Amino acid sequence: MVINRFGNVENVHRVLATCLKDGNIQISSIYSILSHPSATVTWSNTVWGGLHYPKHSLIMWLAVLSRLLTKDRLCRMKILDASQNWCVLCIGSVNRPESKKHLFFECQFSGFVWNEMMEWLGFTWRSCDWDHVMNWFCNNMRGLGFIKKMKRMVLSATIYWIWKERNSRIFQQKCRSPDQIVREVKLSVLMKVLHEDIPDHLREKVERL
Ligand SMILES: [Zn+2]
Repeated sequence: MVINRFGNVENVHRVLATCLKDGNIQISSIYSILSHPSATVTWSNTVWGGLHYPKHSLIMWLAVLSRLLTKDRLCRMKILDASQNWCVLCIGSVNRPESKKHLFFECQFSGFVWNEMMEWLGFTWRSCDWDHVMNWFCNNMRGLGFIKKMKRMVLSATIYWIWKERNSRIFQQKCRSPDQIVREVKLSVLMKVLHEDIPDHLREKVERL
């Protein structure tokens, strides 16, 4: 199983080392190794395959394994001190500590984005708790149907764009609004799915979103 083969940090390092070419990590190599059909962990189909962009799958996979370098982890690694452990996405004067669960999607900023995406997909079910969201997708969004694949893609795209916005604020001092991130997620999803060879009735359904 993927989690047994790649679920600890030593194996992740080993896998990443096999994906190096001229000193650069080849995301396509990581993707092909980890999307092997023998993968049977419950979240495998939620994270890999389908319509996902490989870079979106990679960030989501690292999030599932709690391997994204969030500030709480950097503090535990003594790279940051506690005074620097603040979420850069928080809106208003009260910034919360940054952790995976805060970023996805307990933060007011990311919670807004996530709820907008669930609304866009027509879901009435709502949760901004990471474990609930992952369990819900793993249980309810399984299957090979195009619409299910697209809905899974929305989750990985949302995680990716929130993480990208967090990095833009920290490393480039660039801020975008939650509405702009919602547009980025929708655009990346639509650009992919409308290039797929899909039946007209599904295309019309997607275009109405
Ligand atoms: Zn926040």
